[in-house]
Amino acid sequence: MDTDILIIGAGLAGLSLARRLEQQGMDYLLCESAGRIGGRVKTDLAGQVPVDLGPAWIWPDQPRINALARQLGLLVFDQYSKGDGLWQTVSGEVHRAPGAGSMKGSFRIAGGLARLTQGLADSLPENRLLLQNSVKSLVKGDNGILAGTQRGEIRANRVVVAAPPRLVTATTGFSPSLPDEVMSEMHDVPTWMAGHAKFIAVYGRPWWREAGLSGDAISQTGPLAEIHDASPHDEQAFALFGFVGTPPAIRATHRDKVISDAVSQLATLFGPQLASPQAVLMEDWAANPMIATPADHNGPDHHPAYGTPAALRGLWDGNLIFASSEMGNHFGGFLEGALEAAEQAEAALG
Ligand SMILES: Cc1cc2nc3c(=O)[nH]c(=O)nc-3n(C[C@H](O)[C@H](O)[C@H](O)COP(=O)(O)OP(=O)(O)OC[C@H]3O[C@@H](n4cnc5c(N)ncnc54)[C@H](O)[C@@H]3O)c2cc1C
Repeated sequence: MDTDILIIGAGLAGLSLARRLEQQGMDYLLCESAGRIGGRVKTDLAGQVPVDLGPAWIWPDQPRINALARQLGLLVFDQYSKGDGLWQTVSGEVHRAPGAGSMKGSFRIAGGLARLTQGLADSLPENRLLLQNSVKSLVKGDNGILAGTQRGEIRANRVVVAAPPRLVTATTGFSPSLPDEVMSEMHDVPTWMAGHAKFIAVYGRPWWREAGLSGDAISQTGPLAEIHDASPHDEQAFALFGFVGTPPAIRATHRDKVISDAVSQLATLFGPQLASPQAVLMEDWAANPMIATPADHNGPDHHPAYGTPAALRGLWDGNLIFASSEMGNHFGGFLEGALEAAEQAEAALG
């Protein structure tokens, strides 16, 4: 196959760039290693309830993601944050922490964030998107760049890597090899949230809200370290989600126990009614080789200062461009950063 621009990765960044190129009538192909679009954006049904297993929140100061939600006609609603939070000590004691929810001011997308990525994918012709087509090698030659993929070779004039650079060091070979300092810069960019796991429990009643609680909790006991309300907009059901504090290696070997301990913890924190959820789901991103590498298992505690490192600019005469969210110069790591990175890539393509 032959194309002008090959985009690697159909997460939010790759899909957004593809839509931009489509709107300009440009020639491109979008290769995605998974059998689905979205990357770290994933909405699934827990029972009948759509729940976000990756990102959930957008913020009012993020212009691109808010504009995209409007363009796609999606309903945006406030993160529930009324009432007190809870604090659980290392010895398991539970304290009430008066005040507003810690995520007050953030928004969610009714029906789940995958509506954003699906909305973008729906605007692309089917033959531009190649699912289950991992790019394993990129070879720079006299006649452009030859990509070795699961389904054969693709020749492109330019390649945009809309996948996390650290992951790409593990999945894709480069010929000629990229300089050592470039590879080490790529490896040093932590893939935001890639080491995390998210647990969700769905209930028929919002027991915590009825008790004057926001659903927010911080726990030193675990297994859930940070908990928030994740109820759907229509309030036909109610949900809590938690980031799992148990290390990835233990999650991998004791998944069922982590899940049952998480349910018990919710009952300890919010009341015995929470011991019997209608449905539970856990998504372990650290176990996904298309998102995380072992280096991501101990992710950064704080949001790093992201942006495109100087070493990753102008590679292969400017024809090899990096554009995952982590490359976003102002909002790197966030959904907004993925849209920003797509915008930056479009500018670099000229
Ligand atoms: C649990 C969790 C919670 C989060 N919460 C929030 C939040 O509330 N708000 C927020 O703004 N952000 C949040 N984030 C971050 C947000 O999800 C990311 O910033 C964003 O989704 C990244 O999009 P991306 O397109 O840059 O990369 P990705 O979504 O990682 O997409 C990259 C794609 O490339 C594909 N790929 C990789 N290698 C190859 C290859 N060799 N060939 C072909 N395809 C390949 C992958 O399969 C993947 O689909 C969260 C992330 C996680 C995991």
